[in-house]
Amino acid sequence: MTRVFNFSPGPATLPEAVLRQAADEMLDWRGSGMSVMEMSHRGKEFMSIHAETEDLLKELMGIPAGYKVLFMQGGAIGENAIVPMNLMGASGRADYVVTGDWSKKSAKEAKTYGAVNIAASSEGSKFNAIPKQSEWKLDPGAAYVHICSNETIGGVQFHWTPETGKVPLVADMSSDILSRPIDVGKYGLIYGGAQKNIGPSGLTIVVVRDDLLGRALPVTPSAFNYRIQAEADSMYNTPPTYAIYIAGLVLKHVKALGGMEAMAQHNRAKAKLLYDFLDNSRFFRNPVAKEDRSIMNVPFWLKDEALDAEFLKGAQARGMVQLKGHRSVGGMRASIYNAMPIEGVQALVQYLKEFEQSHG
Ligand SMILES: *Cc1c(COP(=O)(O)O)cnc(C)c1O
Repeated sequence: MTRVFNFSPGPATLPEAVLRQAADEMLDWRGSGMSVMEMSHRGKEFMSIHAETEDLLKELMGIPAGYKVLFMQGGAIGENAIVPMNLMGASGRADYVVTGDWSKKSAKEAKTYGAVNIAASSEGSKFNAIPKQSEWKLDPGAAYVHICSNETIGGVQFHWTPETGKVPLVADMSSDILSRPIDVGKYGLIYGGAQKNIGPSGLTIVVVRDDLLGRALPVTPSAFNYRIQAEADSMYNTPPTYAIYIAGLVLKHVKALGGMEAMAQHNRAKAKLLYDFLDNSRFFRNPVAKEDRSIMNVPFWLKDEALDAEFLKGAQARGMVQLKGHRSVGGMRASIYNAMPIEGVQALVQYLKEFEQSHG
């Protein structure tokens, strides 16, 4: 068996130890005589998995009292509608900060449910930086302010937390959740699909402050109503049980590695290796403002895009896959989530060096 270094933006690489444990437990989970996939979500076995996963998430993220953790479905794109359906009711208008393709999509979807004010946008500069908060035009009467903490396509990331006063801050953290410590208390709501840093696709994590429950617009489907899901412990409908189980194994693994501080150190070290190389290269480049660069997704371009196909072929031959950039921007992208070992980034940098020497 040979495992590749998988730089996919999502679904993405998972810790090998987790996959091995899942394989060991596939046919018989701890003497239950069943696979987790076959368990009733209301049975005691799965209930214990669900509770443990939720407790681990609370512990690792430092989620304070006064917040609910919801395990939902529909992904972050689903949340683009579910968030406004649940929160817009407070005033009928919301602020969106547009820093890339994902937050732009969020703002567009929200317009169905209320008035959307684009408080700031970096689209004019091709999403290569996060607009300074001093340039934002926030509406004090907004129901919430929405940001995307890490733009998976453009490779820009918030390295600071916006101040929104009494207006709840909402963040799409799909691609950087659990990658570093954050102060959950500064957010009204955090959401993200699991398939970048936590586990398989199909599971959506929502962390919501209690006072934001119960504001849903009447059109909100019950299964997507945060209050209804909170009161049912995320079991109003059948939750994505197997994805929750794998997420639990990943969280246990991350805890054993030292939690959020250790993840942040590991991720910063990997990103530094790659950015340092790119900044000193005359063949490859990354155009993002240094202070806003993502430690999760690193887009880069070859000097001559006619070499893109050859570059990708050579990478594949060296066991490095999924480096092609998003179709909307072209170029390359290395997604280096928690589960990407430093050896993967070292191998990539070595290949970049060799490619530059032979083609630069
Ligand atoms: C991947 C991603 C999404 C899309 O998630 P789905 O699970 O496909 O809905 C949205 N936002 C961000 C920041 C992402 O990285």
